[in-house]
Amino acid sequence: AQAQQQSKERSKSRKRSREASRARSANGRGAQEFSFRDTLGEGSYSTVMRAQYIRTGQEYAIKILDKNHLIRKDKMLVALAEKNVLVKLGAAHPGIIHLHWTFQDEWSLFFVLDLAPNGEMQSRISRLGSLSLSSSRYYAAQIVDALEYMHGKDVIHRDLKPENLLLDAQFRIKITDFGTGKILDNGAERANTFVGTAQYVAPELLESNETSKSSDLWALGCIIYQMISGRFAFQGLSEYLTWQKIKSLDYTFPDGFDEDAKDLVQRLFVRDPTQRLGAGGPDSAHSYAALRAHPFFASVAWETLWIDPAPPLE
Ligand code: ATP
Repeated sequence: AQAQQQSKERSKSRKRSREASRARSANGRGAQEFSFRDTLGEGSYSTVMRAQYIRTGQEYAIKILDKNHLIRKDKMLVALAEKNVLVKLGAAHPGIIHLHWTFQDEWSLFFVLDLAPNGEMQSRISRLGSLSLSSSRYYAAQIVDALEYMHGKDVIHRDLKPENLLLDAQFRIKITDFGTGKILDNGAERANTFVGTAQYVAPELLESNETSKSSDLWALGCIIYQMISGRFAFQGLSEYLTWQKIKSLDYTFPDGFDEDAKDLVQRLFVRDPTQRLGAGGPDSAHSYAALRAHPFFASVAWETLWIDPAPPLE
Protein backbone atom coordinates (compact mmCIF):
# COMPACT_ATOMS: atom_id res chain seq x y z
CA ALA A 1 0.00 0.00 0.00
CA GLN A 2 2.88 2.30 0.83
CA ALA A 3 4.52 1.64 -2.57
CA GLN A 4 1.20 2.35 -4.27
CA GLN A 5 0.87 5.61 -2.34
CA GLN A 6 4.42 6.65 -3.31
CA SER A 7 3.81 5.91 -6.96
CA LYS A 8 0.59 7.98 -6.84
CA GLU A 9 2.51 10.88 -5.26
CA ARG A 10 5.21 10.65 -7.93
CA SER A 11 2.66 10.71 -10.73
CA LYS A 12 0.88 13.68 -9.13
CA SER A 13 4.14 15.56 -8.82
CA ARG A 14 5.05 14.77 -12.46
CA LYS A 15 1.63 16.15 -13.50
CA ARG A 16 2.19 19.31 -11.43
CA SER A 17 5.57 19.94 -12.97
CA ARG A 18 4.18 19.29 -16.48
CA GLU A 19 1.51 21.92 -15.83
CA ALA A 20 4.01 24.37 -14.41
CA SER A 21 6.28 23.99 -17.41
CA ARG A 22 3.33 24.37 -19.75
CA ALA A 23 2.55 27.67 -18.02
CA ARG A 24 5.92 28.96 -19.16
CA SER A 25 6.90 29.95 -22.61
CA ALA A 26 10.11 28.79 -24.25
CA ASN A 27 11.96 31.72 -22.71
CA GLY A 28 10.71 30.81 -19.27
CA ARG A 29 8.08 33.47 -18.68
CA GLY A 30 4.82 32.61 -17.01
CA ALA A 31 1.90 34.27 -15.26
CA GLN A 32 3.57 33.80 -11.88
CA GLU A 33 6.25 36.33 -12.86
CA PHE A 34 3.71 39.12 -13.17
CA SER A 35 1.74 40.93 -10.54
CA PHE A 36 -1.76 41.47 -11.98
CA ARG A 37 -3.50 44.80 -11.32
CA ASP A 38 -6.74 46.31 -12.63
CA THR A 39 -8.78 45.18 -15.61
CA LEU A 40 -8.25 47.53 -18.57
CA GLY A 41 -11.04 46.17 -20.70
CA GLU A 42 -12.96 43.17 -21.92
CA GLY A 43 -13.26 41.83 -25.45
CA SER A 44 -15.57 39.13 -26.76
CA TYR A 45 -13.01 36.39 -26.03
CA SER A 46 -10.58 38.11 -23.74
CA THR A 47 -9.88 40.19 -20.68
CA VAL A 48 -7.03 42.70 -20.72
CA MET A 49 -5.30 43.42 -17.42
CA ARG A 50 -2.60 45.80 -16.32
CA ALA A 51 0.29 43.74 -14.95
CA GLN A 52 3.75 44.44 -13.65
CA TYR A 53 6.69 42.25 -14.56
CA ILE A 54 8.04 41.65 -11.09
CA ARG A 55 11.70 41.33 -12.07
CA THR A 56 11.94 44.77 -13.73
CA GLY A 57 8.92 46.67 -12.44
CA GLN A 58 7.87 47.37 -16.05
CA GLU A 59 4.10 47.55 -16.62
CA TYR A 60 2.36 45.77 -19.50
CA ALA A 61 -1.15 45.04 -20.69
CA ILE A 62 -1.77 41.30 -20.61
CA LYS A 63 -4.52 39.96 -22.83
CA ILE A 64 -5.89 36.77 -21.35
CA LEU A 65 -7.84 34.51 -23.67
CA ASP A 66 -9.93 31.69 -22.26
CA LYS A 67 -9.00 28.53 -24.20
CA ASN A 68 -12.32 26.75 -23.64
CA HIS A 69 -14.23 29.78 -24.81
CA LEU A 70 -12.02 30.09 -27.91
CA ILE A 71 -12.59 26.44 -28.75
CA ARG A 72 -16.35 26.60 -28.10
CA LYS A 73 -16.72 29.67 -30.33
CA ASP A 74 -14.31 28.35 -32.94
CA LYS A 75 -12.00 31.34 -32.47
CA MET A 76 -8.69 29.63 -31.77
CA LEU A 77 -7.48 30.44 -35.30
CA VAL A 78 -8.42 34.11 -34.82
CA ALA A 79 -6.30 34.25 -31.67
CA LEU A 80 -3.40 32.57 -33.42
CA ALA A 81 -3.75 34.89 -36.41
CA GLU A 82 -3.56 37.88 -34.07
CA LYS A 83 -0.42 36.49 -32.51
CA ASN A 84 1.19 35.73 -35.89
CA VAL A 85 0.47 39.22 -37.21
CA LEU A 86 1.86 40.85 -34.06
CA VAL A 87 4.98 38.68 -34.24
CA LYS A 88 5.46 39.60 -37.89
CA LEU A 89 5.10 43.33 -37.11
CA GLY A 90 7.59 43.09 -34.24
CA ALA A 91 8.77 46.03 -32.19
CA ALA A 92 10.13 48.18 -34.99
CA HIS A 93 7.30 50.71 -35.15
CA PRO A 94 6.20 52.90 -32.22
CA GLY A 95 2.67 53.23 -33.62
CA ILE A 96 1.83 49.55 -33.39
CA ILE A 97 1.20 47.62 -30.19
CA HIS A 98 4.14 45.35 -29.56
CA LEU A 99 3.67 41.76 -28.41
CA HIS A 100 6.51 41.11 -25.96
CA TRP A 101 5.86 37.49 -24.96
CA THR A 102 3.19 34.85 -25.02
CA PHE A 103 2.66 31.96 -22.66
CA GLN A 104 -0.17 29.71 -21.61
CA ASP A 105 -1.45 27.67 -18.73
CA GLU A 106 -4.07 24.97 -18.60
CA TRP A 107 -6.94 27.41 -19.11
CA SER A 108 -5.67 30.53 -20.83
CA LEU A 109 -3.43 32.06 -23.46
CA PHE A 110 -1.55 35.15 -22.30
CA PHE A 111 -0.35 37.89 -24.68
CA VAL A 112 1.99 40.39 -23.00
CA LEU A 113 1.50 43.69 -24.84
CA ASP A 114 2.69 47.30 -24.61
CA LEU A 115 0.51 49.11 -22.10
CA ALA A 116 -1.49 51.99 -23.59
CA PRO A 117 -2.71 53.68 -20.41
CA ASN A 118 -4.71 56.46 -22.05
CA GLY A 119 -7.41 54.29 -23.54
CA GLU A 120 -9.11 54.35 -26.90
CA MET A 121 -9.25 57.22 -29.38
CA GLN A 122 -12.99 56.51 -29.65
CA SER A 123 -13.62 57.55 -26.04
CA ARG A 124 -11.64 60.78 -26.57
CA ILE A 125 -13.71 61.67 -29.62
CA SER A 126 -16.94 60.83 -27.75
CA ARG A 127 -15.90 62.82 -24.70
CA LEU A 128 -14.72 65.87 -26.64
CA GLY A 129 -17.31 65.76 -29.41
CA SER A 130 -14.56 66.07 -32.01
CA LEU A 131 -10.81 66.75 -32.05
CA SER A 132 -9.05 70.02 -32.83
CA LEU A 133 -7.60 70.31 -36.31
CA SER A 134 -4.05 70.08 -34.97
CA SER A 135 -4.82 66.90 -33.00
CA SER A 136 -6.62 65.40 -35.99
CA ARG A 137 -3.64 66.18 -38.21
CA TYR A 138 -1.17 64.77 -35.69
CA TYR A 139 -3.10 61.51 -35.24
CA ALA A 140 -3.81 61.17 -38.97
CA ALA A 141 -0.05 61.51 -39.62
CA GLN A 142 0.77 58.86 -37.00
CA ILE A 143 -1.77 56.48 -38.55
CA VAL A 144 -0.29 57.08 -42.02
CA ASP A 145 3.22 56.42 -40.71
CA ALA A 146 2.16 53.18 -38.97
CA LEU A 147 0.11 52.03 -41.98
CA GLU A 148 3.02 52.53 -44.34
CA TYR A 149 5.17 50.35 -42.11
CA MET A 150 2.43 47.71 -41.74
CA HIS A 151 1.64 47.61 -45.45
CA GLY A 152 5.36 47.42 -46.20
CA LYS A 153 5.31 44.19 -44.20
CA ASP A 154 2.36 42.92 -46.25
CA VAL A 155 -0.04 43.11 -43.34
CA ILE A 156 -3.54 44.53 -43.68
CA HIS A 157 -5.44 45.45 -40.54
CA ARG A 158 -8.99 45.19 -41.96
CA ASP A 159 -10.74 46.69 -38.94
CA LEU A 160 -9.16 50.10 -38.50
CA LYS A 161 -11.38 52.39 -36.40
CA PRO A 162 -11.00 54.72 -33.40
CA GLU A 163 -11.73 51.84 -30.94
CA ASN A 164 -8.59 50.15 -32.22
CA LEU A 165 -6.37 53.20 -31.85
CA LEU A 166 -5.04 53.22 -28.30
CA LEU A 167 -3.20 56.12 -26.68
CA ASP A 168 0.07 55.51 -24.89
CA ALA A 169 1.41 57.40 -21.87
CA GLN A 170 2.50 60.28 -24.14
CA PHE A 171 -0.87 60.33 -25.95
CA ARG A 172 0.67 58.87 -29.10
CA ILE A 173 -1.20 56.31 -31.18
CA LYS A 174 -0.75 52.58 -30.85
CA ILE A 175 -2.73 50.56 -33.37
CA THR A 176 -4.16 47.40 -31.84
CA ASP A 177 -6.58 44.52 -32.42
CA PHE A 178 -4.98 42.48 -35.15
CA GLY A 179 -7.50 39.66 -34.67
CA THR A 180 -8.82 40.46 -38.13
CA GLY A 181 -5.37 41.27 -39.47
CA LYS A 182 -4.14 39.40 -42.49
CA ILE A 183 -0.70 38.58 -43.77
CA LEU A 184 -0.85 38.59 -47.57
CA ASP A 185 0.74 35.37 -48.85
CA ASN A 186 3.44 35.46 -51.44
CA GLY A 187 2.86 39.02 -52.51
CA ALA A 188 -0.91 38.52 -53.06
CA GLU A 189 -2.67 41.85 -53.38
CA ARG A 190 -6.05 40.90 -52.00
CA ALA A 191 -7.71 38.73 -49.39
CA ASN A 192 -11.24 37.40 -49.17
CA THR A 193 -13.84 36.98 -46.42
CA PHE A 194 -15.90 39.63 -44.78
CA VAL A 195 -14.49 41.36 -41.74
CA GLY A 196 -14.70 44.87 -40.41
CA THR A 197 -17.12 47.31 -38.84
CA ALA A 198 -20.05 48.73 -40.85
CA GLN A 199 -19.11 52.42 -40.83
CA TYR A 200 -15.48 51.86 -41.85
CA VAL A 201 -15.91 49.15 -44.48
CA ALA A 202 -14.63 49.93 -47.97
CA PRO A 203 -16.96 49.55 -50.97
CA GLU A 204 -14.88 46.77 -52.59
CA LEU A 205 -15.56 44.57 -49.59
CA LEU A 206 -19.29 45.07 -49.97
CA GLU A 207 -19.26 44.63 -53.72
CA SER A 208 -16.75 41.87 -54.36
CA ASN A 209 -15.81 40.68 -50.88
CA GLU A 210 -12.22 41.72 -51.43
CA THR A 211 -9.94 43.66 -49.15
CA SER A 212 -6.47 44.96 -49.79
CA LYS A 213 -4.06 47.41 -48.19
CA SER A 214 -6.16 50.09 -49.81
CA SER A 215 -9.19 49.16 -47.67
CA ASP A 216 -7.19 50.36 -44.65
CA LEU A 217 -6.74 53.70 -46.47
CA TRP A 218 -10.50 53.98 -46.92
CA ALA A 219 -10.83 53.46 -43.16
CA LEU A 220 -8.20 56.17 -42.65
CA GLY A 221 -10.49 58.53 -44.58
CA CYS A 222 -13.38 57.56 -42.27
CA ILE A 223 -11.23 58.18 -39.18
CA ILE A 224 -9.99 61.60 -40.37
CA TYR A 225 -13.57 62.61 -41.18
CA GLN A 226 -14.72 61.45 -37.74
CA MET A 227 -11.91 63.07 -35.75
CA ILE A 228 -12.60 66.44 -37.35
CA SER A 229 -16.40 66.38 -37.45
CA GLY A 230 -17.22 64.08 -34.53
CA ARG A 231 -19.57 62.12 -36.82
CA PHE A 232 -19.36 59.01 -38.96
CA ALA A 233 -18.81 59.77 -42.64
CA PHE A 234 -21.26 57.00 -43.56
CA GLN A 235 -24.11 56.26 -41.21
CA GLY A 236 -27.54 54.91 -42.05
CA LEU A 237 -30.33 53.78 -39.75
CA SER A 238 -29.21 50.17 -40.14
CA GLU A 239 -26.05 48.37 -41.19
CA TYR A 240 -27.66 47.71 -44.55
CA LEU A 241 -28.44 51.40 -45.10
CA THR A 242 -24.92 52.36 -44.00
CA TRP A 243 -23.55 49.98 -46.64
CA GLN A 244 -25.85 51.49 -49.28
CA LYS A 245 -24.39 54.89 -48.47
CA ILE A 246 -20.83 53.57 -48.71
CA LYS A 247 -21.52 51.89 -52.04
CA SER A 248 -22.98 55.05 -53.53
CA LEU A 249 -20.38 57.33 -51.88
CA ASP A 250 -23.27 59.14 -50.21
CA TYR A 251 -21.65 61.51 -47.70
CA THR A 252 -21.39 65.25 -47.17
CA PHE A 253 -19.00 67.45 -45.23
CA PRO A 254 -20.36 69.60 -42.43
CA ASP A 255 -19.96 73.36 -42.80
CA GLY A 256 -16.55 74.66 -41.84
CA PHE A 257 -14.74 71.34 -42.48
CA ASP A 258 -11.12 72.26 -43.23
CA GLU A 259 -10.55 72.51 -47.00
CA ASP A 260 -7.25 70.59 -47.07
CA ALA A 261 -8.75 67.84 -44.92
CA LYS A 262 -11.73 67.74 -47.27
CA ASP A 263 -9.46 67.28 -50.28
CA LEU A 264 -7.54 64.51 -48.52
CA VAL A 265 -10.69 62.65 -47.48
CA GLN A 266 -12.00 62.92 -51.05
CA ARG A 267 -8.78 61.35 -52.32
CA LEU A 268 -9.24 58.47 -49.88
CA PHE A 269 -12.97 57.98 -50.52
CA VAL A 270 -12.32 56.77 -54.03
CA ARG A 271 -14.28 53.80 -55.28
CA ASP A 272 -11.41 52.22 -57.22
CA PRO A 273 -9.05 50.89 -54.53
CA THR A 274 -6.01 51.30 -56.78
CA GLN A 275 -6.69 55.04 -57.13
CA ARG A 276 -6.74 55.90 -53.42
CA LEU A 277 -3.96 58.11 -52.15
CA GLY A 278 -1.34 55.83 -50.55
CA ALA A 279 -2.45 52.73 -52.47
CA GLY A 280 -0.08 53.03 -55.41
CA GLY A 281 3.50 51.81 -55.69
CA PRO A 282 6.48 54.07 -54.91
CA ASP A 283 6.56 55.52 -58.44
CA SER A 284 2.86 56.18 -58.77
CA ALA A 285 0.95 59.40 -58.17
CA HIS A 286 -0.83 57.58 -55.33
CA SER A 287 2.22 56.48 -53.38
CA TYR A 288 2.66 56.83 -49.64
CA ALA A 289 5.11 59.65 -50.43
CA ALA A 290 2.27 61.46 -52.24
CA LEU A 291 -0.01 60.85 -49.26
CA ARG A 292 2.55 62.34 -46.87
CA ALA A 293 3.04 65.26 -49.25
CA HIS A 294 -0.67 66.14 -49.23
CA PRO A 295 -1.26 69.79 -48.20
CA PHE A 296 -3.20 68.67 -45.13
CA PHE A 297 0.11 67.31 -43.78
CA ALA A 298 2.21 70.32 -44.86
CA SER A 299 3.03 71.34 -41.28
CA VAL A 300 3.81 67.80 -40.07
CA ALA A 301 7.39 67.12 -38.97
CA TRP A 302 7.54 63.49 -40.11
CA GLU A 303 11.08 62.88 -38.84
CA THR A 304 10.17 63.78 -35.26
CA LEU A 305 6.57 62.58 -35.34
CA TRP A 306 7.13 60.02 -32.58
CA ILE A 307 9.34 62.26 -30.46
CA ASP A 308 7.53 65.60 -30.50
CA PRO A 309 4.90 66.03 -27.79
CA ALA A 310 1.31 65.40 -28.82
CA PRO A 311 -0.85 68.52 -29.18
CA PRO A 312 -3.22 68.88 -26.23
CA LEU A 313 -6.30 66.73 -26.77
CA GLU A 314 -9.08 69.28 -26.99
P1 ATP B 1 -13.30 42.26 -29.43
O1 ATP B 1 -12.42 41.09 -29.19
O2 ATP B 1 -14.70 42.04 -28.98
O3 ATP B 1 -13.18 42.88 -30.79
P2 ATP B 1 -11.42 44.04 -28.31
O4 ATP B 1 -10.61 43.81 -29.51
O5 ATP B 1 -11.62 45.44 -27.85
O6 ATP B 1 -12.83 43.38 -28.43
P3 ATP B 1 -9.39 43.20 -26.49
O7 ATP B 1 -8.29 43.28 -27.47
O8 ATP B 1 -9.42 42.03 -25.59
O9 ATP B 1 -10.81 43.16 -27.17
O10 ATP B 1 -9.40 44.49 -25.62
C1 ATP B 1 -10.35 44.74 -24.63
C2 ATP B 1 -10.21 46.16 -24.13
O11 ATP B 1 -9.00 46.28 -23.37
C3 ATP B 1 -10.08 47.18 -25.24
O12 ATP B 1 -11.33 47.72 -25.51
C4 ATP B 1 -9.11 48.21 -24.72
O13 ATP B 1 -9.81 49.29 -24.17
C5 ATP B 1 -8.34 47.51 -23.63
N1 ATP B 1 -6.98 47.21 -24.10
C6 ATP B 1 -6.64 46.32 -25.04
N2 ATP B 1 -5.32 46.32 -25.24
C7 ATP B 1 -4.80 47.24 -24.42
C8 ATP B 1 -3.46 47.74 -24.18
N3 ATP B 1 -2.42 47.25 -24.84
N4 ATP B 1 -3.31 48.72 -23.27
C9 ATP B 1 -4.38 49.24 -22.63
N5 ATP B 1 -5.65 48.82 -22.80
C10 ATP B 1 -5.87 47.83 -23.69
